[in-house]
Amino acid sequence: MPTPIIITTAITGSMPRKSDNPSVPVTPSEQIESTHEAYEAGSSLVHIHVRDEHQNPSSDPDLFALVQQGVKKHCPGMIIQFSTGGRGREPEQRGAMLSLQPDMASLATGSVNFPRNIYENPPDFIDSLAQRMLEFKVKPEIEVFDAAMLYNAVDLARRNLIQTPMHMQFVMGIPGAMPARRKLLDFLVSELAALAPDATWSAMGTGRNQIEVNRWCLELGGQTRTGLEDNVKVSKDRLAKNNAELVGLVVAMAEEYDRYPATPLEARRILSLPVQAD
Ligand code: MG
Repeated sequence: MPTPIIITTAITGSMPRKSDNPSVPVTPSEQIESTHEAYEAGSSLVHIHVRDEHQNPSSDPDLFALVQQGVKKHCPGMIIQFSTGGRGREPEQRGAMLSLQPDMASLATGSVNFPRNIYENPPDFIDSLAQRMLEFKVKPEIEVFDAAMLYNAVDLARRNLIQTPMHMQFVMGIPGAMPARRKLLDFLVSELAALAPDATWSAMGTGRNQIEVNRWCLELGGQTRTGLEDNVKVSKDRLAKNNAELVGLVVAMAEEYDRYPATPLEARRILSLPVQAD
């Protein structure tokens, strides 16, 4: 029997700019429109970063609120996930918008080298972000940039700072962090199954790894992520038209693996989120 797959769209991120691909949505209205197109194409979860008027990463809760309102209105039931990611943002501001109570928020459970800087997530900081998510009933998506982060998350759950079942995103292809290697994904998935059997997982690849990692997720029974945050091209020499085009590539492959794009309702059930959007 075909099984659903949650296709997450990471619409913007903190890195790509209009000069990389003019379709990268950076204003709230562009972000809402791009999310709606992705939703229509089969995406049931949106991962949101916001940008200031110079396209720089921002933590402004007002911007997050605008996107959240628009997505709720135009994409009924879609799971809304805010990024607490660190690039270009002050640590104390990274969880400022959790009071808006999105369905989910990203939580990196460790530090890692990126190509030109350190993505810093000290132990105290991770605990406080996790605590804040508990307070506001926001489900974390554990962002696993390095294998240690899987084990750290299991420990956070043991200390009751993360509710179970957990949901993890395996991030592959960032230079300096985990490469996009099938054997590595197999290992992470088997470790997760051994240590947190009720957990769900997704994986993503950056750049040209994106589609390959999507394929592995389809095959292994996981969820998956696509979007312009991770990759702005559909082939070596053609830019993606928009986020929806990238979602469409996953949808087109799904049938081959007896999968189909999860509806928002199915996605909420898979992730043990409230089925009533509000
Ligand atoms: Mg992100």
